[in-house]
Amino acid sequence: MDIKIKNILNQFKILRSLKARIFIIVFLIGIIPSVIMRYGILNSYEDRAVSLRTSDVQRQLNIIANHLIAYNYLTDTSSEVISAELEQLSNLYDGRVIIINSNLKVIKDTYGIGEGKTVISEEVVKCMKSGTGGSSFNDEYDYIEFTTPILETALMAETSDGEKPKGEDKPRDIVRGVMLTSVSTDSIVVTMDILSRRALIMEIMMLLIIFAIALVLAKILTKPFERVTKAISEVKEGFTDEPVSVPDYLETEHIVDAFNQLLTRMKALDTSRQEFVSNVSHELKTPITSVKVLADSLLAQEDVPAELYREFMVDIAEEIDREDKIINDLLSMVKMDRKVASMNISVVDINALTEIILKRLRPIARKRDIEVVFESNRAVTAEVDEVKMTLILTNLVENAIKYNREQGGVKVVLDADHQFFTVDIIDTGIGIPEDSLEHIYERFYRVDKSHSREIGGTGLGLAITRSAVLLHRGSIKVSSAEGEGTTFTVKIPLSYVVL
Ligand code: ADP
Repeated sequence: MDIKIKNILNQFKILRSLKARIFIIVFLIGIIPSVIMRYGILNSYEDRAVSLRTSDVQRQLNIIANHLIAYNYLTDTSSEVISAELEQLSNLYDGRVIIINSNLKVIKDTYGIGEGKTVISEEVVKCMKSGTGGSSFNDEYDYIEFTTPILETALMAETSDGEKPKGEDKPRDIVRGVMLTSVSTDSIVVTMDILSRRALIMEIMMLLIIFAIALVLAKILTKPFERVTKAISEVKEGFTDEPVSVPDYLETEHIVDAFNQLLTRMKALDTSRQEFVSNVSHELKTPITSVKVLADSLLAQEDVPAELYREFMVDIAEEIDREDKIINDLLSMVKMDRKVASMNISVVDINALTEIILKRLRPIARKRDIEVVFESNRAVTAEVDEVKMTLILTNLVENAIKYNREQGGVKVVLDADHQFFTVDIIDTGIGIPEDSLEHIYERFYRVDKSHSREIGGTGLGLAITRSAVLLHRGSIKVSSAEGEGTTFTVKIPLSYVVL
């Protein structure tokens, strides 16, 4: 929408209401035609009345003009018949008739003021020459003016040498004078005034009716939207969490559908949040409970031997380490949730990074006689967040070592094409049962709780890994055979795409 219109709408806040707009539109659509109709009807009445009056008067003038010739009025103005006719005409139409002879002299003026004067008005001279009359309506002073030629029909006069021109014996009109008539249109104006007043009254009545219709329509048409607001408010206030339904319009149905989807999503999020909180509390509570039990049992005994103290203290320290690990994992996960804004992208040598990570993890592998091999098919540099990339590789290789057998093997294979680089982490470990495969990325999910706990798992590692991979707009896949081993494949774009 035009910025100007928007500014105006902002100034008149009420115009931003759909109800107000519907009201205005219905009102205008109702009232404009009635105004146009009033003017149209009045104008066409005026045209019609004036043209009727014109032809009426014209006809009578033509009759009088003929009588003027018949009674030879132009040379002798004493004819009573003509005087009566002129009188009647001027009385009937409240007009004035001036008769002018061929010398442009006024021989009769029904007003009796112009007789004997010479008229040299353009219309009169023109009419005298051409023999054709005319009329014009003056709507400012409300009168119609006529110029009527007084014509005498005669055979063509003989030429001066006494011969008749050949073929010229047809009758011919000779202009003997002109009648200049003006008739008032006051009566038409009076009728117009009456009509106009009636039309105005009708228009005001219509205005009131249309006003009422516009008000009612605006209210009825916007009602479903009010219902949508009310239904959503009810959900918001917590009176109900049933899906909202306002099927009155397709539009309200769309709004409500979108809202219901949002509601479902919010419910799912709420459930997962509750589950998460209860899981976190449980996970954090477990080591604390163990510490408490260990400490209590030490306190309950008197004269505890130093070795026992030591043994219990080692256990307590282990539990504290575990608590620390859970808290660290939770913090990593919260960081992942902060989305794209937290990405710290730089060009990283993936070969070197993998080497460093494997070097760090090999001592743990060596404890269980597990061999960790790195196989690089090409040198790879990519735009990644180094900290998150380290987290991805560390978690996967750590799992490959943790869930392995004695003297097992772990192979990390790095490869790339022109768009992506892939890292395969292949182990010869215990594998993941097929029905667990779809759950391993869930927070706190562990295939074998006691085993995982024994080897220090929190169930958060793969959730964090997957979030980190997705933040790089990459993908992670797993294939596994129980008792044989697992392969995780991470595929990440070489260049980071900002969306
Ligand atoms: P944890 O901290 O328990 O290792 P993860 O989220 O990293 O949590 O892994 C979830 C579960 O998936 C683990 O508890 C384990 O049961 C299983 N898992 C992960 N990686 C492997 C693997 N390489 N081999 C077998 N099982 C695995």
